[in-house]
Formats: sequence, structure tokens, C-alpha cells
Amino acid sequence: MITTKAWAAKNAKAALAPFKFKRREVRPSDVLVEIMYCGVCHSDIHQVRDEWGDSIYPMVPGHEIVGRVTKVGNAVKKFKPGDIAGVGVMVDSCRKCKNCEQEMEQYCVEDMTGTYNTFERDGVTIAQGGYSSNIVTDERYVYHISEKLDLKGVAPLLCAGITTYSPLRYANVGRGTRVGVVGLGGLGHLGVKFAVAFGAEVTLISTSPSKEKDAHSLGAHKFLLSTDKKQMKAAESSFDVVLNTISAKHNYKKYLTLLDLNGRMLVVGLPAEDPKTSPFALIKNRRSITGSMIGGTRETQEMLDYCAEKNIVADVEVIPIQQINEAYERMIRNDVRYRFVIDMDTLK
Ligand code: NAP
Ligand code: ZN
Ligand code: ZN
Repeated sequence: MITTKAWAAKNAKAALAPFKFKRREVRPSDVLVEIMYCGVCHSDIHQVRDEWGDSIYPMVPGHEIVGRVTKVGNAVKKFKPGDIAGVGVMVDSCRKCKNCEQEMEQYCVEDMTGTYNTFERDGVTIAQGGYSSNIVTDERYVYHISEKLDLKGVAPLLCAGITTYSPLRYANVGRGTRVGVVGLGGLGHLGVKFAVAFGAEVTLISTSPSKEKDAHSLGAHKFLLSTDKKQMKAAESSFDVVLNTISAKHNYKKYLTLLDLNGRMLVVGLPAEDPKTSPFALIKNRRSITGSMIGGTRETQEMLDYCAEKNIVADVEVIPIQQINEAYERMIRNDVRYRFVIDMDTLK
């Protein structure tokens, strides 16, 4: 077994604190990654605090992982020691269902195995995430990372990146598409970067007036203050796509009314409380709501290669692991520009 240093939550009320546990030995198709950086996703907070229910403790969160491969099993084909590699939100799936066969393993009919807060497929081992010194993962769920990119900014691509890239691609966002990105946090700021890179006309829709300047420097063409009734009224029926990344309680109706004919709201945000919606807001303009969960293995590698080609990374604030509890409080106050990334060297 491999000894792993980490920070974990012991229950929903406890602060994260130092923790040690064992990971499995490297199996024939496994890769051992020494973790360099791990991003801090709002999903980490939801799960640590048991906001979605059924959380499993002790919990080592973290699913935006970048590091260096130090060992590979004898059947591994894609990686060798020394490679820079990434691990995201998913570490396994059944590998044989119709969705796994199409490399959309996040929609595995037997459910994907998350990186943490779940049991591995043996049904007994608690999967533990990336606020830790290393991770052992089957190579299918490990990605190549270009060394050209700033690795601190790459870590958030493994969740926030693919979670925004995938629905925008699925909705065929391209030149001229009128896209509204709701919420300028970890997901939202990458959503803006991707939509701009795809050629769309991008508006950042935010509750924070202080983020207007940043929205423009990230490439957004317009800014819409969602707390301003007049601005929201004037923007009714003016978008083809609205990407909803909101992490807290809200009402879908407010954002549905922004959609023009056949417009779609792409839902990725997962607040603890189910948002209310309105059939009246849906029937007008034949609007629809589409959910989307991360991305499959093929699409995740495609997104990382696209980022390497276009030089897209997250805007990050690097923190030592000792500041993780304070970082959670700041995220809840919308005080992050725009992703915290933990420097895992600080675990030592
Ligand atoms: P984050 O960095 O905390 O950003 C969330 C943003 O939502 C905030 O910056 C804020 O932006 C906006 N917001 C917060 N409270 C709001 C409210 N009451 N009304 C309207 N807007 C509000 O969070 P994140 O890491 O990007 O994650 C966002 C959500 O996506 C979380 O719920 C997370 O669990 C979920 N998620 C889903 C997937 C998936 O596969 N679908 C993957 C990863 C994460 P402004 O200040 O600009 O208003
Ligand atoms: Zn995440
Ligand atoms: Zn499957």
C-alpha cells in the first residue's frame, strides 16, 4: 500500500485538517501521480458540508489534479514516469455500457466512480481526492497535459474547464451565438474564455458589480447586472444560450426570460436547494433547459489539447493547504478571482 498525506473532513461540521491514509498499490493499468496542484471547486464545499446529502467521511476532497507520473503498471500504454498528467472528477466507470463505449463515461449507466465522496467499484474502499500527496488511477481516466501551459492554471481545467467546455460544444456555440454566462466564479470565468474562443458574442451576467472590469478583461463583450431590474428587463429574449453556473439558491425563471426563440439554458450549477422554475417562462420562445455533467474521457483530453493550442488556463490564486478553510469561506462570499489552487508542496 502507498502512504498518502492529505487534508480531510471528519464530518459535515468539522474544518478540514491533516490526515493520513493508504492508497492501493499500482495495478497493471494504473498510473501513480505525485500531485503538484489541486484546484478548489465549489463542489468540494457542497460535499464536505453535506449539502447534497449522503456524504461519506473521512473525506479528502479535490478533483482538479495536476502532477507528475512517478510509476506506471506494466500494462500502461499512454504514460511513462516523468510525464505531466491530470486527473479530474471521474476515476472509473463500468467500461462496457453504451455510454462508456462512446467515451461518455460520466453518464455510465451503472454510474461513474467519482474521485472522492464515493466508494470505489469494489464497494468498500472510500475513494479519496486530490488534497493529497499522490493518487493512483487507471490510465483511462488520466490525461496528458502540455508542459507549455502554466500548470497552476491547468488544474482547474480538469473540472471547471471540461464542465463549461462540454455543454458549450454540445450547444454548437460558435461565431455569432449570443451567449450569457451566469456567475463569475471558477466555472463562469472559464465559460467566458471558451465562449469567446469559440467566436460567440458573450455577456457576463453577475450579481457582483465589482466584477464588470474583470469580465471585460476575460474577453466578455458585455456585462449584465442581474440585480438591476431595468437591465434585466431590457435584456429579455436576447440570448441563444445561457450557461448557468450558480452555486447558491436562485430561481431559474429570472434567467429563462433572457432566452430568445429556441434558446437554451445550460445548467451546470448545483445549489443545495432545487431552483424553482416556471412553465410560462419555458413555453415562451420554446425555451428549454439542458443539464450537463463534466465531460467524458475523450472530450476532456480534447479540451486540454484545445487549451494548449489556444493558451487557455484558469486565473488562479495559489494557496498553501493550511489556508483551505479560509479559502472556502472566501468562495462562499464570492471573493475568489477566479479559482483557488492548492500548492501541494505545502503538505510536506
Ligand atoms: P464559485 O467559484 O463559487 O462560483 C459561483 C458563482 O455563482 C459566484 O462567483 C457568483 O458569481 C454566483 N452566485 C453565487 N451565489 C449566487 C446567487 N445567490 N445568485 C446568483 N448568482 C450567484 O463556484 P464554481 O466552483 O464555479 O461552481 C459553481 C457550481 O457548479 C457549484 O454549484 C458546483 O457544485 C457546480 N459544478 C457542477 C459541475 C457539473 O458537472 N455540472 C461540475 C463542477 C461544479 P457572481 O458574483 O458573478 O454573481
Ligand atoms: Zn468540480
Ligand atoms: Zn458504463
